[in-house]
Amino acid sequence: MEPYRGGKIDGIDKGPELGLWELDLRSEFPLLFVPHKETRSKIPHSEAIDKCSDCAGKGEIVCPTCNADREPGFYKENQMFKCPACYGRGLIAHQDGSDTICKNCSGKGVLPCVTCTSRGLVKCQTCQGEGSVLKRSVAIVKWKTLLTRKVSAASSAASVPEEVFHKAKGVQLCNTQAYQCNPAFFADSYFLNKFSSDVIGDRSPVPPAARIICERHAISVVPVTRVTMAHRNSSFSFYIVGLSRDIYIKDYPKQFCWGLCCCFDWLSI
Ligand SMILES: [Zn+2]
Ligand SMILES: [Zn+2]
Ligand SMILES: [Zn+2]
Repeated sequence: MEPYRGGKIDGIDKGPELGLWELDLRSEFPLLFVPHKETRSKIPHSEAIDKCSDCAGKGEIVCPTCNADREPGFYKENQMFKCPACYGRGLIAHQDGSDTICKNCSGKGVLPCVTCTSRGLVKCQTCQGEGSVLKRSVAIVKWKTLLTRKVSAASSAASVPEEVFHKAKGVQLCNTQAYQCNPAFFADSYFLNKFSSDVIGDRSPVPPAARIICERHAISVVPVTRVTMAHRNSSFSFYIVGLSRDIYIKDYPKQFCWGLCCCFDWLSI
């Protein structure tokens, strides 16, 4: 909604208002699989002129300072406020008993309303005094990538959190892209076939107001090496994860520990 200042509008007389799915948004399309994008587009032929409801089409409303809480159309003009400098006397008293005329109110003792100069009315901000507003429909379109991820870790790597696997680099076994992906087929692995169809079966539900543009299905193998270190009677292990060899240490101290715990002992073995 914005003030209507005259001129031509793109209204229903220019053609039928298009439905949301009829809009041509090809120029707005994001790259595939971006996490999020949002655009706002004016819907063609959706403009209309309306009387401003805030001022009932008058372009002015009662002054909120000197006519607060008055019904629209009933207001008082020339409301004055007592001058704060001379407390309404119009004169300023001095130590020696003399008086001078108050400069703040020029001796009147009262001041007009600062908001409306005591007209009682101010310009309506909604229509900027025009009395009419231009309304239009805007389509807010959001693109989103819905993600379903699954990890099947070997039992010896079971204590590595899934997040670590998601971030790690692995060897890609398949990577397909289609409007709707089918489970991958590996001639020699019943396990992978089942894993693939489980992931596809668990795909995120698409909200009713949304449509799918494209799907992608990828499976990667992430190598994990478990290293166990022993020193006297105690031992500890860490994992080397992925092709980029990220290190994962369970319960790694979150803050600098000042060497008071055992972690430095381990590092100096
Ligand atoms: Zn006022
Ligand atoms: Zn005064
Ligand atoms: Zn208005």
